[in-house]
Amino acid sequence: MAKTLVINSGSSTVKFKLYEMPAEKCLARGILECIGLPNSRVKIKYGQQQEFKAEKPFPDHAAAIHELLHLLKKLAIITDYHEITGVGHRVVAGGEEFNKSVIINEDVMQKIDKLSAIAPLHNPNNLIGIREFKRILPNAVAVAVFDTAFHQTLPEENYIYSVPFEWYEKYGARRYGAHGTSHHYVAQKAAEYFDKPLAQLKLITCHLGAGASMCAIKDGKSFDTSMGFTPLTGLTMASRAGDVDVSLIDYVMKQEKITDPDEMTAILNKKSGLLGISGVSPDMRDVLQAEKQDNQRAHLAVKIFIRNIVRYLGQYTFEMGGLDGIVFTAGIGENSDEIRQRVCERLHFAGIKLDEQANLQNKEGIISMPDSPVKVLRIATNEELMIAREVEKLKAKSEH
Ligand code: ADP
Repeated sequence: MAKTLVINSGSSTVKFKLYEMPAEKCLARGILECIGLPNSRVKIKYGQQQEFKAEKPFPDHAAAIHELLHLLKKLAIITDYHEITGVGHRVVAGGEEFNKSVIINEDVMQKIDKLSAIAPLHNPNNLIGIREFKRILPNAVAVAVFDTAFHQTLPEENYIYSVPFEWYEKYGARRYGAHGTSHHYVAQKAAEYFDKPLAQLKLITCHLGAGASMCAIKDGKSFDTSMGFTPLTGLTMASRAGDVDVSLIDYVMKQEKITDPDEMTAILNKKSGLLGISGVSPDMRDVLQAEKQDNQRAHLAVKIFIRNIVRYLGQYTFEMGGLDGIVFTAGIGENSDEIRQRVCERLHFAGIKLDEQANLQNKEGIISMPDSPVKVLRIATNEELMIAREVEKLKAKSEH
């Protein structure tokens, strides 16, 4: 059976999932982390809850990828590299260039490289993974699936910033959004629970992980989303600031004598959000724990996190002119009944009511009361499966 490898190549990690397709059976998943650092290591889960763990030096991505393929064979997950007929790569920024997944050729690689200007932390690392797999598995169909592609349907009033229009024309300065593959996946799943075509629903999907974003989905398409030119903006995230008045940045840079804008961007990406407000941790579990121990800044961090979700729920409901469902997904959205409950408490005035039992049980699907005018859903995201499906689709096309 054909196997498809799904790859997320980051700055110091390569995450993967291996699927048997079209059965959509996950055969193995894992991570190679701390690439280029002294403590680099690999973890693979496979078979009947089997796990392989080892510390091993990977000086670079190429070494890590070689080790991964070697281990897949050594652990008898595959018998031969030829079984891997497709490789799907998660690529963060596709700009206006890519509104759907594509088979990767030299031209596509050059375009992804050019788009590094808008995703300097992500695209170059994605590209390293792409080139390496192309070298080792030249016969597998390589597909790029872009985090931004789903949002290419935003109407222009939702992606143009209120700044000189020439910035858009000259530099592509606009909202691109992110997490598109996840928003699309959970929206499709939600439509199954509604037993209606997605095109007939108005949904707001809340991807609440370490990175967090929301998406308004209307007519089956992304209509508005909270991330912007980069994934820094929108909701309060683990360590990313979300929406901030840009004049504040200028002011603080002068006060703190920061002259390098990159230094400021790093603070907004790595020292802000839940971590910045609470001073406790970027991890919502730690912040909730600290809140229970009466830590006032942790309490404030959670209140701001929830307030921003509620703010976008209101904005998107009015922008779409109605709402059928709210979907919670990703690390916090899937696992924290408390956060879901505290968000939904704020929506009582509109008659929206959670089924407390279903919420506490982390039930997959609809977790609101039958008479709630807007359904609330908890759906586990699966970006990797969505990517594997994209590979299948394009492979089938390329064979015809
Ligand atoms: P990423 O954006 O890295 O893909 P995930 O979607 O895996 O993130 O989410 C990771 C985050 O989920 C963690 O930082 C943690 O804050 C949060 N999380 C996981 N489990 C829980 C839980 N039970 N309660 C609250 N937050 C949780």
